Amino acid sequence: MVYRTFGKLGYKVSQLGFGAMRLPTREDGKVDMDKAVELLRRSVELGVNFFDSHHFYHNGESEEALGRALKDVRDRVFLQTKTPMYREATDDERWRWLEDALMKLRTDHIDFYLMHSMTWERFQKEFEPFMRIAQKAMDQGLVRHIGFSFHDTPENLYKIIDTGPFDTMTVQYNLINRSLEEPISYAAEKGMGVVIMGPVGGGMLAAPSEEIRRLLSGEAKSSAEVALRFVLANRSVSVALSGMSTLQQLEENAAVASQEVVLTEEDYRHIREALEEKRRLSELYCTACGYCIPCPNGVDIPANFRLMNLHRIYGLTEYAKVQYRRLGERKDREGNPTPAWAEACVECGECEPKCPQKIPIIRQLQEVVEVLGG
Ligand code: SF4
Ligand code: SF4
Repeated sequence: MVYRTFGKLGYKVSQLGFGAMRLPTREDGKVDMDKAVELLRRSVELGVNFFDSHHFYHNGESEEALGRALKDVRDRVFLQTKTPMYREATDDERWRWLEDALMKLRTDHIDFYLMHSMTWERFQKEFEPFMRIAQKAMDQGLVRHIGFSFHDTPENLYKIIDTGPFDTMTVQYNLINRSLEEPISYAAEKGMGVVIMGPVGGGMLAAPSEEIRRLLSGEAKSSAEVALRFVLANRSVSVALSGMSTLQQLEENAAVASQEVVLTEEDYRHIREALEEKRRLSELYCTACGYCIPCPNGVDIPANFRLMNLHRIYGLTEYAKVQYRRLGERKDREGNPTPAWAEACVECGECEPKCPQKIPIIRQLQEVVEVLGG
């Protein structure tokens, strides 16, 4: 395993981190504790020393599994967990969540305590209540460092980096979504630990794609491997989290993360150029501006075109087909079917004049049905 320096804190962290949100489960949906513990312990043997959880992953069983697996190696690993400030709760309840997490994790401290899923808007509302809990916990030695995980625009990421007293952040970044690349470098330059979630796009890049596999001149076993190598090749990244469910995934990821050089400079340059070209191509199509929606018949036009781009540009056809079927199964809050796939288009023509890209929406939706439907 290769280790990296975690920002100005200087900790040595394994460049592959374990995201404990997709642990092995039993038929009833609960975590299979025996398998989860075996998997987590094997990861420690392979050198992983960074573990990420959340109070409510797997209904709270994620922290429990980490506690069981890591209790006797606690002094050799870093534990990160998150608290959802967006959930209604009193300060007392939030404090109990923290105490509960410490109990489940079988530890006397959490290394990195994160505000979960920040946007700038949420941050402004939730920072104060978070700090009431976090400061008290830090004063008592229950929490060592604070951070946030993030789902918003690059501009808003800069704002949070510059406003909050954070040592670390956990953000999305992968081959297909590089929108946060610049603020990631900025955070690293400021000395923050940068943790990447979704290096394989929440499983999207684990789907087979010859297009992606061919981005690498040498022998890559899978598109997931190319995706992980790409994220690790970015020197601003401290840890790439992978939500692993099987020993095979773990062994494969650990093999990649044990190489000093995950990508040669030439490969890295080549991939970046190829991705830039693909990004330009995708902008020729739908830019997902959303001006054409809502459609009176519920078609989520940009979502359909995004899936078509995954097929057309990245060769992620199998993944796109599965997600397309999901669009067809969408339901409203009351549980009534509201299919959002291209098949729901009745060709009324309302959307086309609103599209600044002049996309022949009706014709392209028909193409979506032909390629991804059926
Ligand atoms: S043409 Fe189709 S997609 Fe466009 S508004 Fe009408 S039903 Fe919706
Ligand atoms: S208006 Fe055009 S570019 Fe914008 S989301 Fe709709 S189809 Fe895409």
